[in-house]
Amino acid sequence: MRIIVCVKQVPLNNDVRVDPETGVLLRSSASAKLNPYDLFALEAALRLKTPGDTVAALTMGPPAAREALLECVFMGADSGVLVTDRAFAGSDVLATGYALSQAIAPLAPGLILCGRQTTDGDTAQVGAELSEFLGIPCAANVSTILGREAGGIRVLCSLGDFEQELFLRFPCLIAVEKDIHTPRLPSFKRRRAITEPDIAVLTLADLADKDAAHYGLSGSPTQVERTFAPAREVKSVRFGEGDGAEGIFVMLTENKFI
Ligand SMILES: Cc1cc2nc3c(=O)[nH]c(=O)nc-3n(C[C@H](O)[C@H](O)[C@H](O)COP(=O)(O)OP(=O)(O)OC[C@H]3O[C@@H](n4cnc5c(N)ncnc54)[C@H](O)[C@@H]3O)c2cc1C
Repeated sequence: MRIIVCVKQVPLNNDVRVDPETGVLLRSSASAKLNPYDLFALEAALRLKTPGDTVAALTMGPPAAREALLECVFMGADSGVLVTDRAFAGSDVLATGYALSQAIAPLAPGLILCGRQTTDGDTAQVGAELSEFLGIPCAANVSTILGREAGGIRVLCSLGDFEQELFLRFPCLIAVEKDIHTPRLPSFKRRRAITEPDIAVLTLADLADKDAAHYGLSGSPTQVERTFAPAREVKSVRFGEGDGAEGIFVMLTENKFI
């Protein structure tokens, strides 16, 4: 079975500039790293792999996102797929999910893993949208993988106060919670041994739908109107000696601190 892990390269820190015209992140302005949540997805994939399976890391991003794929290969992925084209720039979550589905469908994976969310876009929507475009079942918030069974996978999803046990038939997509497993470190031995990492590159020309209007800014129904730091309102309340513990208790209760 082919297992695909969707990963994204994200800014290393918060020092990212935003294009004032389009509201789009200027990613070249910041150093980048592999989205930390995706490390958990990759670790889960590597543990699920049985003889005959392959694990490929796949990302849509600028050419520099190849670095993120290399890190995945050095952690244990068999290969990487970089989906990159100027036509994809400025994609919102819908356009991202669509482009990923176009890249993934011909690869016919049995299982797709996503991280819970990214540390930049932070929407946690891409996995669900990707599964919709592919027409396959999806489970989000997967906190435990109970095991692979004939024809599918059994998982526990963490839904706040309760957990849900689901069985998903292959092909399917799961988005895993952080801490599902402890991710391994990239292996120095693999880094030395793999001199020609298997990283494929897909552009718009390689996809079944080659209409650029379906990708990037033109394929994105969400447009950033404006970005700004929220106004901060600091309200301070002083309690005099006479208010005592009861007054403080009332204030904390009214403000829903307790
Ligand atoms: C109007 C608009 C314009 C935007 N313009 C740009 C832009 O110009 N450049 C830009 O980089 N971003 C842009 N974004 C942000 C971009 O849409 C999101 O970064 C992208 O859709 C992924 O969403 P997310 O980061 O919230 O991922 P989440 O939904 O939080 O991610 C969940 C999981 O999905 C997978 N995943 C997410 N993104 C990718 C990916 N690219 N490749 C593979 N797997 C992935 C990972 O497994 C991840 O853990 C824009 C967003 C909007 C709304």
